[in-house]
Amino acid sequence: MKNMNILEGRELPRTYLSLPYYLKKYLGELPPPSLDPKTRQPIGPDALARLFPMELIRQEVSLEKEIPIPDEVRELYKMYRPSPLLRAKRLEKILGTPAHIYFKYEGVSPVGSHKLNTALAQAYYNKKEGVTGLTTETGAGQWGSALALACKFFDMKCRVFMVRTSYDHKPYRKTVMNLYGARVIPSPSKETAAGRAFLKKDPDTTGSLGMAISEAIEVAATTPNTHYALGSVLNHVMLHQTIIGQEAKKQMVKEGEYPDIIIGCCGGGSNLAGISFPFIADKLSGKKKHLRVIAVEPTACPSLTRGQYRYDSGDTAGLTPLMKMYTVGSDYVPSPIHAGGLRYHGDAPLVCFLYYKKFIEAVAYDQKEVFQAAELFAQTEGIIPAPESAHAIKQVIVEAIRAKKEGKKKTILFNLSGHGLLDLGAYEEFLEGKMK
Ligand SMILES: *Cc1c(COP(=O)(O)O)cnc(C)c1O
Repeated sequence: MKNMNILEGRELPRTYLSLPYYLKKYLGELPPPSLDPKTRQPIGPDALARLFPMELIRQEVSLEKEIPIPDEVRELYKMYRPSPLLRAKRLEKILGTPAHIYFKYEGVSPVGSHKLNTALAQAYYNKKEGVTGLTTETGAGQWGSALALACKFFDMKCRVFMVRTSYDHKPYRKTVMNLYGARVIPSPSKETAAGRAFLKKDPDTTGSLGMAISEAIEVAATTPNTHYALGSVLNHVMLHQTIIGQEAKKQMVKEGEYPDIIIGCCGGGSNLAGISFPFIADKLSGKKKHLRVIAVEPTACPSLTRGQYRYDSGDTAGLTPLMKMYTVGSDYVPSPIHAGGLRYHGDAPLVCFLYYKKFIEAVAYDQKEVFQAAELFAQTEGIIPAPESAHAIKQVIVEAIRAKKEGKKKTILFNLSGHGLLDLGAYEEFLEGKMK
């Protein structure tokens, strides 16, 4: 490899890869369906139509092998895609590992993370069906920034409920969203019945993604021509993110490699799904049985590693369908760690199903050891990772050291889901030894 493996624009995938097709084909089984919270019956398209455009509802339950990427969306992807695949040679060297460490760098998107991959698609499908505004929630602000920009491109209004603790601690993200033309409201807020109820219960709450989702859904459901958009968890979000893994696969082929281990941090599961699903399709078919896929989460919000696999609501007020997932409980308020994007109580039903079926593994780390990994990465590879992505880096280092002990040349691929240039406050705290 030269320094980077960059594909040509024309090599950008033309379709999204749908994992449910492979699950059905090779496993003969699909994740349990989402349920209506009132009747506990599988949710039908009608119940979702108030919040989502028909095309996304169709994608949510599609069993097609692939779904075409609309030309308009593909053209917008070309602003930053195909994203580069890099090899972390200096990190390998300092660890003295025989492992080859590759990473897909999603921080090259204008908003600095992988979230724009689905934001552009979601905004496009909504616009096409006549929607004029979108509401959403955001934790660390990356999803809000992505949707704000996508809405601006498609000339739609965007309203973002931002988790209180991030609103207070990540003021620049709010500025980014405002600059893209979105309105940002700290959550819980007094603007919704759900928000007022949360505040009544605990006036000093730091907020949570679950609460912010409740508020965004309430506004979408009660405002004409307005829909709701979710940045992770749902099947259609996983679907859009598979563009990452499809590109990575082509790039790895050019390097003459196939990963033994794929690692991604896991908040709702979308960047992990994005990089791994195209490879998991191979594993399901029996071609790549040895492939290990590892989800990395914070100990402050350990949905996969400590949660229960059961039906739970996607938000705190109980407005979303019930989803079968590993959950620490929809009313759980995780401590305000810096990796705000990993503070979600559950995970994507598709990712949870794979974990339940033991096709993927999961580990959890404390904030401090994650930042130590981020520091080593910044000092060897130069890129300052998002605190979320740094969780993946921590596990990469663990696996690289294991490969060294075992004297095995492993090929590791991880997703560097975003850069941390708007997280310098957190890094400053870490460097000054003030991190809890
Ligand atoms: C949102 C976010 C995450 C976590 O969300 P997933 O759906 O699990 O990918 C991870 N990394 C970055 C940079 C994010 O913005």
